Amino acid sequence: MNVPADIASEGPVFGRESAGYDDEVAAYQLGFGQRPDVVVGATGPDDVRAAVRLAAGRGLPLAVQSTGHGLPGDRAGGVLVTTARMRGVEVDPGTGIARIQAGTPWGDVIREAALHGLAPLSGSTLGVGAIGYTVEGGIGLLARTYGFAADRITAAEMVTADGELRHVTAESDPDLFWALRGAGGNFGVVTSLDVELVRQPRIYGGGLYFAEQYVTDALRTWLEWTADVGEEMTSSIGLVPFPDKPVVPVPVRGRYTAHIRIAHTGSTAEGEAAVAPLRALGPCVLDTLTDMPYTESDAIYRDPPTPMAYYGTNVLLDDLDVATAARIVELTGPGSGLNCVVQISHLGGAMARRPAAPSSVGHRDARFLVRVLSRVAPGAGDAVAAAERAGHERVYALFGDRVTGIAPNFLLGGPVTAEQLRACYDEADYERLAALKAVYDPGNLFRSYHNIPPADAR
Ligand SMILES: Cc1cc2nc3c(=O)[nH]c(=O)nc-3n(C[C@H](O)[C@H](O)[C@H](O)COP(=O)(O)OP(=O)(O)OC[C@H]3O[C@@H](n4cnc5c(N)ncnc54)[C@H](O)[C@@H]3O)c2cc1C
Repeated sequence: MNVPADIASEGPVFGRESAGYDDEVAAYQLGFGQRPDVVVGATGPDDVRAAVRLAAGRGLPLAVQSTGHGLPGDRAGGVLVTTARMRGVEVDPGTGIARIQAGTPWGDVIREAALHGLAPLSGSTLGVGAIGYTVEGGIGLLARTYGFAADRITAAEMVTADGELRHVTAESDPDLFWALRGAGGNFGVVTSLDVELVRQPRIYGGGLYFAEQYVTDALRTWLEWTADVGEEMTSSIGLVPFPDKPVVPVPVRGRYTAHIRIAHTGSTAEGEAAVAPLRALGPCVLDTLTDMPYTESDAIYRDPPTPMAYYGTNVLLDDLDVATAARIVELTGPGSGLNCVVQISHLGGAMARRPAAPSSVGHRDARFLVRVLSRVAPGAGDAVAAAERAGHERVYALFGDRVTGIAPNFLLGGPVTAEQLRACYDEADYERLAALKAVYDPGNLFRSYHNIPPADAR
């Protein structure tokens, strides 16, 4: 398809042959490719409307990309709206609400919020886009204290499939507002999002790293410890074969390590007391726990800031016992033949409570999230990812009927199946989302990411 001459976009428009096309479609995720027919480098809501109308008029799918952390497998054809030019955040210190533009990464929001002693419910890394993360739930560093990020959305400006720009709130459009808070990418392109911040300028946090011979002990101790910790404590454990690269701290470089990640919203003394049993479990090769401003919170996970190739799946569990957890190490540790990172996050606390205005986030009752992340070769594509999935499924088979569902945010790379998508939501909510999709996007224009097909089309 040629670049249409009449598209009313202030921002640049690219066809496959245009100079700059490859840079415009480049994503953080390197494992998969995308070759849209047309890319609209949106500068504001009018450009987004023009792109939506173009796609709808030609019966093409419309995809959105902010940072490309969530590129969902190989993507071909259609119209892509890139939002990197729509970057900005304004904080109202009176209400504690941040208005976040479509292409804003968390790092910008964290910096702006900190000027007012506030923090967003962001995740492990600064580079992830705030909108993509939030509209699918958003399980952040402080999730057990403050809940899912999606529950803090108070309003959105979004362009729906009919090409209209809507101001969506709980009062104006209760159904769309509910759907947006958990399944947002299926219902439109958000041009700006209002989210409630929290008064948490500092935290006690960081990582405890245990060498290979202590990995199983660390996992057992962490798991038992989660049974009694308060809601101020959000934590996870990573079973990580650290690469032998200069960016990795020397004590863990090239080594299989248990990495316990801590974010505590109480005082430093309370945080220190809470982690004492973990520190006592064996010699730490690296201990980075400290009082820190929230602006430094990406030091907890130390996710790589540079683009990578990865394929990640997950399951939510209602419980996890020590014996089963030990089997995870056998199945994924050195010598297992599976080259992957496993992460187990402790859920519950505020995440388990329903917000005053309901949202479509699923499986609030889950106590643990188990993620398996495989490094894949750049450009590996859907076929390689599908083969990796067999290894992931061997891990999940350990959990039997303890599995309650899947967290959509952590379906990273593709292909994502209809069955996986359905498992992201509570059963009745999935049916309601599909019915709403038939109302707001009957032609399934927004089908390029974690798609919930309209009820009529199934
Ligand atoms: C290194 C890394 C760390 C992560 N850490 C966390 C974490 O701590 N907690 C967590 O919950 N998740 C985490 N994630 C997952 C992340 O939240 C999702 O991948 C999310 O989709 C990324 O959003 P993005 O905008 O950065 O990516 P993109 O690939 O640009 O967007 C992904 C999708 O989000 C939707 N989207 C983006 N912008 C808009 C918009 N303006 N309107 C409507 N839909 C939009 C679209 O459907 C798009 O396809 C992490 C992912 C990575 C790779």
